[in-house]
Amino acid sequence: MSKIALVTGAGRGIGAAIAEALGKAGFLTWVNYSKSSEAAEKVCARIREAGGNAYPIQADVGKYSDIQKMFDEIEKKHGAVDILVNNAGIEIRMPATDYPEEIYDSIMNINLKGAYFCSQRALRTMKKRNWGRIINISSVHEERPTGNRGIYSISKAGMWMMTREHAKEYGMFGITVNSIAPGAIRTDLNRKVLEDPAYEEMVLRNIPAKFIAEPYDISGAVVFLTSEEARYVNGASLTIDGGLSLN
Ligand code: NAP
Repeated sequence: MSKIALVTGAGRGIGAAIAEALGKAGFLTWVNYSKSSEAAEKVCARIREAGGNAYPIQADVGKYSDIQKMFDEIEKKHGAVDILVNNAGIEIRMPATDYPEEIYDSIMNINLKGAYFCSQRALRTMKKRNWGRIINISSVHEERPTGNRGIYSISKAGMWMMTREHAKEYGMFGITVNSIAPGAIRTDLNRKVLEDPAYEEMVLRNIPAKFIAEPYDISGAVVFLTSEEARYVNGASLTIDGGLSLN
């Protein structure tokens, strides 16, 4: 039987590339989306065209009750999620003095609380099966301050500690928990800011590789972390940033 993968926020961007890569690697892949239903259907269709198996599933991971319903549905069909990729995330830029409470809550709820409660459900059944993989899509900003989107980096710093806490607590059950910390990847998250050539030039100045990556530059590493070859990689953060963090 195929192992079961769930990728949150997988209708577009990095999540879509990860879902496609896992689907093509032979995992039965659940493609979570919040709003992008058509895009999630298309991701599933591409996986099926390539000979894999995938289903879309709606849930706002910022809502505890939606997470419970999503896991109930998947577990009813398969008993467990074997591979969880916590990818759903939002970023809203503004000075620290301006953040209203609702924006603070939505960033923290989606980026950190959502990942926490998806992990909680997945860890319960992974522990019973004595096998599991959790990959948290964090950011280089889990360690580096942004200067203009502090709640985002605070949420990612929390995610990085969550990775290490879960890796330490559940490593003895054949479960690995790791983070991937991307640098600049061209998606809807940064499309608007990168439309400004001066901003793009400033970003590129700090990247030794001298290009902004594409979502598939992240998905290969996710597939590696699900493999038996990666069974001893636990509690790690894999930086994929073209050398940005060297600055
Ligand atoms: P994106 O293109 O803006 O996509 C965001 C994804 O998150 C969408 O699929 C969206 O789904 C989903 N999402 C948002 N709110 C959600 C919710 N409440 N419930 C479920 N899904 C939700 O962003 P991206 O660049 O691919 O980012 C993916 C992850 O990579 C994020 O965690 C981000 O922090 C991280 N990252 C990105 C970069 C970068 O340069 N792009 C760098 C470092 C880290 P819907 O459309 O269905 O709402």
